[in-house]
Amino acid sequence: MKVITIPVTPFMQNCRVIACDVTGKAAIVDPGGDADKILSVINSNELTIEFILLTHGHLDHVGASTELAKSLNVEIIGPHIEDKFWLDGLPMQAQMFGFEPQSGFYPHKWLDEGDVVELGELRLTVKHCPGHTPGHVVFHEPKSASVLVGDVLFKGSVGRTDFPKGDAAQLKHAIETKLFTLDDETRVMSGHGEDTSIGYEKRHNPFMSGRFG
Ligand SMILES: [Zn+2]
Ligand SMILES: [Zn+2]
Repeated sequence: MKVITIPVTPFMQNCRVIACDVTGKAAIVDPGGDADKILSVINSNELTIEFILLTHGHLDHVGASTELAKSLNVEIIGPHIEDKFWLDGLPMQAQMFGFEPQSGFYPHKWLDEGDVVELGELRLTVKHCPGHTPGHVVFHEPKSASVLVGDVLFKGSVGRTDFPKGDAAQLKHAIETKLFTLDDETRVMSGHGEDTSIGYEKRHNPFMSGRFG
């Protein structure tokens, strides 16, 4: 799996363009903003985008979705329907974070635990990991041993749980049962900051080791 990371928005959200090495088919994961920047990366790499994937409904992850869906003529897939209220609240999120005015939207398809999204020869397995938001999903791609985790897990940290419908216990449970059960070598691509690995986080993440809370 080819991965291009494009930091977007003032929150430096890691938008990722992923592509199948064999077929060249590509997808955009979490286009939070800066549509022009994302489009120029797509054009200079001569990629054909098949669809847009969303991990959760926060503005810094979804802000450029409708603009890109329209200009590339592709569908928006995900997150889980439990994040519908976050998408309904996009105008309010935009105001709160000082972003350009944004209208609400829904994806063409919601995702659920166990769904498989095919991208060329890649098979992205959907895991529902609530806690940061109730409808947060992550995408595990076994062949390349990688997982796109949005704001569930970060290098040495975990997602915030102080938003409406956030739940720290639920988040910890999701990380333990859905992420820490993956191979230690699995590359973890987070929504903010550096990449890490499952093994590294199992050993060093202070929020998961019991040293904090
Ligand atoms: Zn978030
Ligand atoms: Zn985020």
